Amino acid sequence: MNKFTVSTKRPYDILIGQDILKGSGKYIRERIDPCKVCLVTDSKVNGLYSQVLTTSLIEHGFQTCKVVFPEGEHSKTMNTYSNILEALADEGMSRSDLIVALGGGVVGDLSGFAASSYMRGIRYVQIPTTYLATVDSSVGGKTGINLLNGKNLAGAFWQPSLVISDYKTFDTLEDDELLNGVAEAVKSGMVAENTLIDKVLRRDYAYVIERCVSIKKSIVEADERDTGMRQLLNFGHTIGHCIEKISSFSVSHGHAVAKGMVAESKAAFKMGLTENDVSGYLRDTLEGCGFDLSIPYDPDEMYYYAHNDKKINGDSITIVVPEAIGKCRLQKIALSELHRYIELGL
Ligand code: NAD
Ligand code: ZN
Repeated sequence: MNKFTVSTKRPYDILIGQDILKGSGKYIRERIDPCKVCLVTDSKVNGLYSQVLTTSLIEHGFQTCKVVFPEGEHSKTMNTYSNILEALADEGMSRSDLIVALGGGVVGDLSGFAASSYMRGIRYVQIPTTYLATVDSSVGGKTGINLLNGKNLAGAFWQPSLVISDYKTFDTLEDDELLNGVAEAVKSGMVAENTLIDKVLRRDYAYVIERCVSIKKSIVEADERDTGMRQLLNFGHTIGHCIEKISSFSVSHGHAVAKGMVAESKAAFKMGLTENDVSGYLRDTLEGCGFDLSIPYDPDEMYYYAHNDKKINGDSITIVVPEAIGKCRLQKIALSELHRYIELGL
């Protein structure tokens, strides 16, 4: 098992290993005194992994209760968020108790947001069970839900107390779900480390997880609240979020980000913002992994959703420009350029 410590305002450890879920009670107990634990999970992960986790928690002196919501991005709503908060109150959870998020990015984002706001903030532990959540969403403390107007429009920065990443849980992931993680890992490679992409293609999970976590850790330590370089991790997400929304989430997050990375690379090159057109490389790499990179949507509709993006500041939006494979930079463009940017990417 490997350990990283993220040195944010409230530092926390990330434990990475194979088949470590059954030791969760011990790892949590080493950091947190016995208390009531509310396990939050989705309907699919519940049947797969909540029993082993609950047993381990009870063995180490924790009292447990559980909230389960239907699996999938459609659950990342105000309604589920509100149901979780009500369930926490029904269970009599107090400020000194703990939420444990067991599942993918949807469970992590919802549970983290509930933890950030229940009684003005209680502790939570992330136990990611998807490749995407392990390499990306479980680290960094961005939590939130979708609003009718767009992705992740309500949320909070709220760091977990511990992350336990057991990549044995990937054994039960469908191929399409693994691809979601591939997209975010390729993104990390594009932003910070070109040699990582080859390891992603070889499905070297142990290596890729450690490098992605390490890259994200450094970026989050430098910019916890996403006002500067952390925005580099949004590569592919401006267009990706529009695609998720327009497709009513039938295109999942990683698949949308894969399409978004190709489109944003193409657009940046065509607008003369970079000398290198990396879109061909990205297209070949991602298609080779099995991604469908088509974007059969109307640019006007895409533009409508892009307008609700959190990266907009006044009359400009910050986009990520790939200068080379493994090197990106941030660039502000006028909102009046956004429509052309989207059109050129398609
Ligand atoms: P998800 O949580 O919906 O999980 C995908 C599917 O896999 C679900 O059906 C789930 O039930 C199932 N599943 C989970 N673990 C499993 C396992 N081990 N075996 C079998 N099935 C399993 O989606 P995701 O791809 O993990 O995360 C996507 C979400 O993460 C999006 O909402 C995205 O916006 C968010 N995200 C957040 C951040 C952040 O920094 N907070 C970063 C990236 C993505
Ligand atoms: Zn993402």
